[in-house]
Amino acid sequence: MLETVAEASADDVDRAVAAARAAFDSGPWPRTPATERGRTLARIADLLQRDRESIARTESLDTGKTLKEGRADVDDVTAVFRYYAGLAGTHAGRVVDPGRPDVVSRITHEPVGVCALIAPWNYPLLQMSWKLAPALAAGNTTVLKPSELTPLTTVALVELVEEAAVPPGVVNLLLGAGGTVGRAMVAHPGVDLISFTGGLSTGQEIMAAAARGVRRVALELGGKNPNVVFADADFDTAVDYALTAAFLHSGQVCSAGARLILQEEIHDRFVAELAARADRIRLGDGLDPGTECGPLVSAAHRAKVEGHIEGALADGARLLAGGTRPADPALAGGFFLRPTVLGDCTREMAVVREEVFGPVVTVERFGTEEEEEAVRLANDTGYGLAGAVWTADAGRAQRVAAALRHGTVWINDFHPYLPQAEWGGFGKSGIGRELGPSGLEEYQEKKHIYHNTAPEPTRWFSG
Ligand code: NAD
Repeated sequence: MLETVAEASADDVDRAVAAARAAFDSGPWPRTPATERGRTLARIADLLQRDRESIARTESLDTGKTLKEGRADVDDVTAVFRYYAGLAGTHAGRVVDPGRPDVVSRITHEPVGVCALIAPWNYPLLQMSWKLAPALAAGNTTVLKPSELTPLTTVALVELVEEAAVPPGVVNLLLGAGGTVGRAMVAHPGVDLISFTGGLSTGQEIMAAAARGVRRVALELGGKNPNVVFADADFDTAVDYALTAAFLHSGQVCSAGARLILQEEIHDRFVAELAARADRIRLGDGLDPGTECGPLVSAAHRAKVEGHIEGALADGARLLAGGTRPADPALAGGFFLRPTVLGDCTREMAVVREEVFGPVVTVERFGTEEEEEAVRLANDTGYGLAGAVWTADAGRAQRVAAALRHGTVWINDFHPYLPQAEWGGFGKSGIGRELGPSGLEEYQEKKHIYHNTAPEPTRWFSG
């Protein structure tokens, strides 16, 4: 056991929402100039960097990810706070031309109110920062709930928020399970907006709950992301990235390139190289500098991923690498699973259609119709979070990128995201966008103020 934390009760949910409500209705934060809120966010960013090493270690211990990834996460979180620190004062509204000289018409951006922010366990601090930084920049008050599996870095973040002098009641933290604390937050009439990142079925339930009160909802859900490689792509680079796409953080990434779609000519050579390299990935303790992949987050999650592999083999997939727990007795104490490559997959198989969220990549192939066939395969998913295309032909790259129905498309790359670029899903991958200006607008109401500076009777009605 790593740590013991307090579990919120139904009463705590009421108290947290009441504190956020009071801070919104009568506290200073929504009324603070946006540029000043931005300065507070910049202070939080500085504090995150001051505590970078300890937060990174905690994230690694809590999730199983490598320390290298934990450090990268803290740097990414810092960049998100810095980005919204800068955007806060520049996104307050706009002036509209009313078409007559005696009217002043403007759009003001105002905070929505009390925001319930619910995050998953794979990138605990990063996913929370995508919500908290813009919610604060816009002047909202918040109630946060990290995943019950990985609460520790959010606790650390809230301590930094206090240290940065965010006023009391603006950020309220609840720890506990989704089925109890999360449900109570979502159902609470004092909450104006729910922003959720997590699984599809939870998102469906949250959207239904939000509908009852016609409350704003933003959903970042799962993905089943295609990684399409044409024969003219640089072979070694494409293999290298296919590994990172599928196995970074043991595949527990919403945008993991879990669906590899290869052009016929390179299929056999690519798959052989991929499987050989997957076999050499070093599993171990995330804090050990030699480790390339840590364990999965829980025993239950590993069992779920193993179930997907079993189902795929029963459906006719061919096991090319992994598929089992590692034999090394030193790893018996963790929820490890070997990086797994499944060949001969088709889009009808459940393993190709459903999000596995583990170290499993499926391989499909395309040939005859080239681009059209590749695009058809890549778009044949209920999800639509992210996808990549690998080719040396810039024209083809642009055509395929334009045709893909996914919220992010990488050309000759995989995984990078930018705080200043919108992130989110088409289809069942979600509703709304995080990051970029749209990520701030999620947390803003827009009000039209129309000022007639020289009102006179119009005599529309003659009596
Ligand atoms: P999950 O849906 O089980 O839980 C996510 C969060 O919601 C947790 O904090 C959980 O406690 C809470 N929760 C669970 N049930 C709830 C309920 N009924 N009401 C309110 N809250 C509830 O998801 P997870 O297993 O923690 O995370 C993995 C999922 O997150 C994957 O599907 C992954 O693709 C997705 N994800 C998406 C993105 C993205 O940007 N689109 C990023 C990261 C993860």
